[in-house]
Amino acid sequence: MADEFSFIRWIQSQQSKSAGVLVPAGDDMAVMNWPPGDLLLCAVDQVIDGVHFDSRQRSPRQIGRKVVNRNLSDCAAMACLPAAALACVALPRGCGEKYARELYLGMREAADVFSCPIVGGDTGSWDGKLVLSVTIMGKSAGIAPVLRSGARAGDFLYVSGPLGGSIISRHMDFRPKIALARELASKYRISAMIDISDGLSRDLGHICHESKVGAAINAPMIPIHFDAMALSKTDAISALDHALNDGEDHELLLCSADEIPGLFQIGQMTADPAIVIRRAGRTFPLTPAGWEHQL
Ligand SMILES: [Mg+2]
Repeated sequence: MADEFSFIRWIQSQQSKSAGVLVPAGDDMAVMNWPPGDLLLCAVDQVIDGVHFDSRQRSPRQIGRKVVNRNLSDCAAMACLPAAALACVALPRGCGEKYARELYLGMREAADVFSCPIVGGDTGSWDGKLVLSVTIMGKSAGIAPVLRSGARAGDFLYVSGPLGGSIISRHMDFRPKIALARELASKYRISAMIDISDGLSRDLGHICHESKVGAAINAPMIPIHFDAMALSKTDAISALDHALNDGEDHELLLCSADEIPGLFQIGQMTADPAIVIRRAGRTFPLTPAGWEHQL
């Protein structure tokens, strides 16, 4: 980029006043006002060109939105309120300041929906591809964080929306379910929750592992997204398998002893640690086949 400092000055000019931020980006560190009694929740997420998006096909706005929305979806999974974000960007040399501004504006678009200020970051250029990393800080704001580890045998298993085929377009543009998560956590006994980023089969495995329980899900109860049906016509994979295994739906997967209207009840947690799926009167083991990064 021609002038990194002119980009940083431009970012500073974009900072808006926020009640929780005493000193925004521009000093060595931002300073935040933290209400007494609030818990601080932290997470970081990285997206890499060629792995999580293709910069030849996606605009910098879309890419910026995606990286922040992934973090915000983790806030939903914990039922916390986003309080601030920090962004770190490695730009391909020569991409230009306009491209960098568009990335930032994409991040802001996603964060502004939840009044989450971007209070700092770092940027540099290199000979590699675009890499973005966003750190998010959330506050409990009156609701105890919902962990993956609290599910009990007998709890109902719910999903918040239809699954599968997100690769068609939804993986780039989704709305984190923060308001829904907080509403559910304040009205019902939510024993465990996760946002579906790696695929239903794998993320259910995360809950079962952390909670030391198993699960039995009913295949006909799984809400299948239209995109999964469309995709199954172009490959040899069934729409149900897409719904079970595709990643990046960012719907909520949660467990509760309560009957919760408005969600899809897809099964129940079990004392037997196996994870099984029931279909046409038969029971099969559900093997996690969602997205997993190979190290
Ligand atoms: Mg998550």
